[in-house]
Order: sequence, then structure tokens, then C-alpha cells
Amino acid sequence: FVSLRGLAKSFHGQRVFEGIDLDVRAGTVTAVIGPSGGGKSTLLRCVNRLETPDAGTVTVGGVRYPADGPLDRARRTALNRTVGMVFQSFNLFPHLTAERNITLAQQRALKRPRAEAVQRSRELLDRVGLLERADAHPHTLSGGQQQRVAIARALALDPEVLLFDEPTSALDPELALDVLAVMRSLAAEGRTMIVVTHETRFAEEVSEQVVVMADGGIVEAGTPRAVLHDPAHPRARRFLASVR
Ligand code: ATP
Ligand code: MG
Repeated sequence: FVSLRGLAKSFHGQRVFEGIDLDVRAGTVTAVIGPSGGGKSTLLRCVNRLETPDAGTVTVGGVRYPADGPLDRARRTALNRTVGMVFQSFNLFPHLTAERNITLAQQRALKRPRAEAVQRSRELLDRVGLLERADAHPHTLSGGQQQRVAIARALALDPEVLLFDEPTSALDPELALDVLAVMRSLAAEGRTMIVVTHETRFAEEVSEQVVVMADGGIVEAGTPRAVLHDPAHPRARRFLASVR
């Protein structure tokens, strides 16, 4: 469903990665792991075009998004409708309640009528276990609760692919569990997801493939069992030894 071919990105002449080829089948989870600075966030940002790649193509749901410059308006809209993102730092609007954070996105991006948007927000808050906190502002919520609101907000836009950039790494382990439980349920219902995470147990449970990004490319890719337990590449071995 997502297909990357020959994707390359540099900043100020410094290569982050090049020659990235990756296929994510519809309804499956791909976990991306690797050392800090390896380009994991940049890769996700090239998929949803928060960054413009230098070369290569991104295909999502059969639509090609080539790397030759910024997207035109129609493609930008199509991509925004198709791909949702959840960030490490939640990125909720601090002055809005949980419910309003979720509702506003639907009204803005989908022009969904307010009543319908509110109903959907409440369904999703219920799903992430936070219906009773609908009127809370982000600063009164725990990090784990904020991240669950952020996931509900991403889901409210009905994306076909969800990108997660280290969604639990700013959280205490106990709070991370609630977020991981929500993500497991998304995986179980057959959502297509690309998840940058160092939660190797989660990756092992839910992902179809694990890729290791380091040294400017994907150094290892395969089943979770193969990659996490028996990596061939020395760089992947070294990284995995460091997170266990
Ligand atoms: P981490 O595990 O720490 O989140 P990462 O694998 O997500 O790391 P990236 O954030 O993608 O790595 O960064 C890859 C490289 O690109 C780093 O060297 C970083 O400094 C550089 N980089 C990322 N974004 C920019 C930017 N907007 N401008 C310049 N350099 C950048
Ligand atoms: Mg990152």
C-alpha cells in the first residue's frame, strides 16, 4: 500500500539516506528501528511530505508522489487525507480541550459538520479510554493520555495509513503501556501502519516486517524474528545489542 523507491534525502549536502526501497502491504505494520540520527523521522516526514525528498518516489494507495519539488495542491490534499501522523511530542493544541482538538481537525481538513465531528470525536475518545476526559485541556492530562488523544485525532481524519514517530518514547513505561494497547488494537483491526519505535516487544508482536535504518540506508529488513533475533548486518547487531 505504501511503496518507496530510491528515496533519498540530504540536509545541506549531508546525506541522511539514499536508495531507500520499502514496501508496506495494506493491513500490515512495519516497524522502523535504528540509532539516533539514522533518519527514521526524516523517512516518515518524506512519506507524508513534511519534507521534500531529493530523489525517488513515494506511492501511497496507488498514487505516485514523485520527489521533484513541492506537491501541487490536489496531491497535497490527497496525501493529507490518506496519511495520518502521530508524533513523539503529541502536538496537541494547548488551548483546546481534548474533544475540541479532535473535532477541529475534522472540521478543517474534512469540512465535516460540527455535530458529526463531535460525535466522531466522542466515539474515538471512548475507544482510547478517555471519554470522561473530553473536556480536559492537554496540560491536565498525563503524557500517555495526551498521546491517546493525539491518536484519536489522527484516526478522526479516517487515514488509510498511520505513521507513528516514537509515540511512547517521551512516556514513563507504565503510561506507554496504555498507548501501546491502543496501537495493538489498531494493528489487530488491520490498519496499515509504519511505526518508528524502540519497543522491540511491540514490534515483534504486531509487525509483519522490521527494518533497521543506519548509515544512510536500510541495513536490515525482514520478519521481526529474523531482524530482532538474528540480524546479519553488524550495524543492526550493534544497535539491537544496545536496546536490549
Ligand atoms: P532519533 O532516533 O534521534 O529520533 P532519527 O533516526 O529520527 O533520530 P532524524 O531525525 O531523521 O533521525 O535525523 C537524521 C539526520 O538528519 C540527523 O543528522 C539530523 O541532524 C538531520 N536532520 C533532520 N532534520 C533536519 C533538518 N530539518 N535540517 C537539517 N538537518 C536535519
Ligand atoms: Mg526521530
